[in-house]
Amino acid sequence: MKHNWTKEEILEIYNKPMMELLYEAASVHRQHHNPNQVQVSTLLSIKTGGCPEDCGYCPQAARYHTDIEGNDLMSVQQVKAQALRAKSGGSSRVCMGAAWRNVKDGPEFDQVLEMVRTINKLDMEVCCTLGMITENQAKRLAEAGLYAYNHNLDSSEEYYEEVISTRGYQDRLDTIDNVRKTNVTVCSGGIIGMGESIEDRAGMLVALATLSPQPESVPINALVAVEGTPLEEQEPVPIWEMIRMVATTRIVMPQTQVRLSAGRTSMSREGQAMCFFAGANSIFAGDKLLTTPNPDVNEDMKMFEMLGLQPMKPFVKKAQPETVEAQYSQYKDLGEKPKWSRPGHKIDRNEQAKAAAKVAK
Ligand code: SF4
Repeated sequence: MKHNWTKEEILEIYNKPMMELLYEAASVHRQHHNPNQVQVSTLLSIKTGGCPEDCGYCPQAARYHTDIEGNDLMSVQQVKAQALRAKSGGSSRVCMGAAWRNVKDGPEFDQVLEMVRTINKLDMEVCCTLGMITENQAKRLAEAGLYAYNHNLDSSEEYYEEVISTRGYQDRLDTIDNVRKTNVTVCSGGIIGMGESIEDRAGMLVALATLSPQPESVPINALVAVEGTPLEEQEPVPIWEMIRMVATTRIVMPQTQVRLSAGRTSMSREGQAMCFFAGANSIFAGDKLLTTPNPDVNEDMKMFEMLGLQPMKPFVKKAQPETVEAQYSQYKDLGEKPKWSRPGHKIDRNEQAKAAAKVAK
């Protein structure tokens, strides 16, 4: 497994003639994966909106004026019902997302831990994306039976500063590091179509591919430009750029699950098929991806049938973790108040969207 990828090497792959790139990516894919199996995950927004962060692509940031409906943390029973529905629709994994800057110890985190226990007992892989977490919080999640933690790098370190000012790139890497101190797998990827250069895309792949071990799962999102967010005017990413990104990711991270994530509603079936050929082997199912639209589950199953793809069973890549009940936990609620960074530099388009929101509200 190569871990010392450079930006130049990755750019050379990304810019190959398309047929050569596809052939190479498909060959790597076949060496490491069953090309007819695709993992299906369901993303559940367990706490929507009202986020204090300023991510330029996100309709859940409280400072922008978007038409999403926020909700408080869901109950364990609500989450269980949704997980059962996801399971019957063919999903092997539930990913729970909360619009938080970072996890705070206390009753809400305890409730999330109970959700993790509940879903793991349904024999589904459980993933969480809750913002930045400490080592102790990662250990508590692991003990509850968490299978994966998602924490996207979003873009290159250089371009990250153009999108987010409320936290730094190193915070992301530190959280991934905290997850790596447990047996929870890492899911980390990014978004293309935010106005970044091809070099930035390669830079993000360098940051991911040089992690040791590489993330077990890498979501590649195409920006869904939502009205009211700073990136509302970005043009959709051409499908060929998505295919190039998926193929390059597959080549530099041969063993990872490459996930075709946001932006699938604007991709044709043919475009998605090319992404699967190029090495994507995971999708999100369900009509919503947190707050943005996603293809209907039935449409996805029809596409699978047409392409001869089968949903992957859970725990194929790694054994199911055990769940330790709360009363037997060896980790305490430490009431930690970690100092995650807050660079606070000015990003013009974020400031403009914030000002427009003040007027609209
Ligand atoms: S992406 Fe996450 S952290 Fe950023 S504003 Fe949205 S919910 Fe908050």
